[in-house]
Amino acid sequence: MYQHQDYQGQPLPLPVGKVVCIGQNYQDHIAEMQSKTAEEALFFIKPATALVPLSPAFSIPLARGAVHNEVEIAVLIATPLSHADVSQVAEAIWGYSLALDLTLREVQARLKQQGRPWELAKGFDGACPVAGFVPKALVQHPQQLDFSLYVNGEARQVGNSANMIRGICQLISEMSQFFTLQAGDIVLTGTPAGVGPLQVGDKLQLQLSDFFSISSRIA
Ligand code: ZN
Repeated sequence: MYQHQDYQGQPLPLPVGKVVCIGQNYQDHIAEMQSKTAEEALFFIKPATALVPLSPAFSIPLARGAVHNEVEIAVLIATPLSHADVSQVAEAIWGYSLALDLTLREVQARLKQQGRPWELAKGFDGACPVAGFVPKALVQHPQQLDFSLYVNGEARQVGNSANMIRGICQLISEMSQFFTLQAGDIVLTGTPAGVGPLQVGDKLQLQLSDFFSISSRIA
């Protein structure tokens, strides 16, 4: 069972809720997907049942085509947000971490082609492995965070939150116009370039600035 934790492994007294995500929030990832930069934000939701602990290991769906990594800065919400402005968003954040927006890429391509929604590609059980959260008081500059994903010792994704098209508070404010965010919900803030297939047995290393570097593997 997944429960929110801080980055030192202490359980947090917040319920486990939904995960609200933004797609196409880094220009280099839009380019690698040969997508266009849209005026309107692309939001989607993963259910609470998608959440699993990132470490020490997690599993991926088998026989449904390629499962791609998308490492993203995750934001844990502490108090409800509805039609919020950016200063209300800043108040409501508990802290920051890293998550993987696991994506069944071939399923997603098929759904896109058919004009269907993305749940089968992004909302399956275990589709959101997440690490422990760093309290916001320790994160002086959330919009200047280096983060990376290494797979089997090789750099797969290296990003900085400064390169987001929509900043963290801005995108959460926009989300809250459509979806009320509740205590214990998580927001994923988009992935930089470097998405690619994961395999059973892969060893992962995820780093968030100087806050943590954690190992995981695909079981
Ligand atoms: Zn994503």
